[in-house]
Amino acid sequence: MLERRHLFPNVIELNYQARRRFGCCVYLVYSGADWLLTDIGYEDTVDELIDLVRQLDFSLVNCRYLVATHADADHVQGFLRAKELLPEAKLVAHPDARRILESNDRIASFAEIPAQNISIELPSLKIDQDLNEGDQLEIGDMRVEVWHTPGHAAGQLAFRCGNLLFSGDNIFRDGCVGSIDAHHGSDIPDFIDSLRRIQTSDVEWLLPSHGPAFRNDRSLLQSAIDRLEQYQHMADFGTCAVDWPLLDQWEDELARGIHPAD
Ligand SMILES: [Zn+2]
Repeated sequence: MLERRHLFPNVIELNYQARRRFGCCVYLVYSGADWLLTDIGYEDTVDELIDLVRQLDFSLVNCRYLVATHADADHVQGFLRAKELLPEAKLVAHPDARRILESNDRIASFAEIPAQNISIELPSLKIDQDLNEGDQLEIGDMRVEVWHTPGHAAGQLAFRCGNLLFSGDNIFRDGCVGSIDAHHGSDIPDFIDSLRRIQTSDVEWLLPSHGPAFRNDRSLLQSAIDRLEQYQHMADFGTCAVDWPLLDQWEDELARGIHPAD
């Protein structure tokens, strides 16, 4: 049996536990004998991760939930294999993530990026239960509160547990945010709302889906919000921008007959 390396009380993160990087963060939350996992990463690391969980003295039949924070291939590819090893666990996700996973939408899940010759396997997944804003997951005597935080993806969820927020791909320790991509269903105004919600909450710690946990630092969140506020009005972000003020200025200049050299 291995010694449990807690990140916080009742919370183990499997990369931190193993002291090496498997892929995305995989959080094990437990109360009594019951436990859940948020995300699982790529299929080729699943057996090793579940073996690690077994060595931490968790009984595999007591896994209640496998939680998809959203539908990205690097978070969910391994869930089919995980379900084989954890047959009692329910696979749960937001309805927007369910649509992508059950229809095997390879573009929205980033399994396929044709322009970059990126193409990875992604099994079709059957979601056992939808999770929506305000739902609660019961783990022993613990309640995990579901937050719907769209922006990076329409089906992006975060999970609050006391002063902790399992924050998915909303924001990372260096202030980066989850990628903004039209084909992925990203929405910058929604993203700003989600970041504001996290910023103004009394959550103390953010446990992201990539990289280490970090404090809910208001100024870090504000710098990301300020950046995204600018993105909304920049051509750099293509159809994810809400407008492009230069075109309004140009229209005005055209109507007034202003020569560019004037
Ligand atoms: Zn991600």
